[in-house]
Amino acid sequence: MSNIKVKLGLIEELLEACRKTHPNEFFAFLGHDNTGKERKDYDFWSFEENFDYKYEKVVDHYIIVPLFYQVRNAVSYRSDLLPLGFSIAGTIHSHPSYSGRPSKEDLLSFEKRGFLHIIAAFPYQLNSIYFYDSRGRKIDVEYVD
Ligand SMILES: [Zn+2]
Repeated sequence: MSNIKVKLGLIEELLEACRKTHPNEFFAFLGHDNTGKERKDYDFWSFEENFDYKYEKVVDHYIIVPLFYQVRNAVSYRSDLLPLGFSIAGTIHSHPSYSGRPSKEDLLSFEKRGFLHIIAAFPYQLNSIYFYDSRGRKIDVEYVD
């Protein structure tokens, strides 16, 4: 059983966004809830020291970074444009092909930030999305309402 929880409604919304963006690649950052007294004042850019803490959170929203560009198979983004306090859970991007396998560039980007990286492959259905951790290992998530 996975301890990463993802809101099902969010996934459905993201799949819809992938469909609309097709045949171009969709990219967004995933965020998790970070409210309440539990919240610690930490450097949210450094993921390592808060690993367990973040794992208990529900991934429930996303944000499209205004400036990003695509070079070949890689999407580059400017994470400095994210709103202050946005807690990055990971990323999602689409593959306009049927392949859910991360490219070399994907793996490099997974390492940068976050603990959950989603690849939504064409035709962008619930059974064509793939979940990876920061090291590019396939993982499971638990859907929640
Ligand atoms: Zn990719």
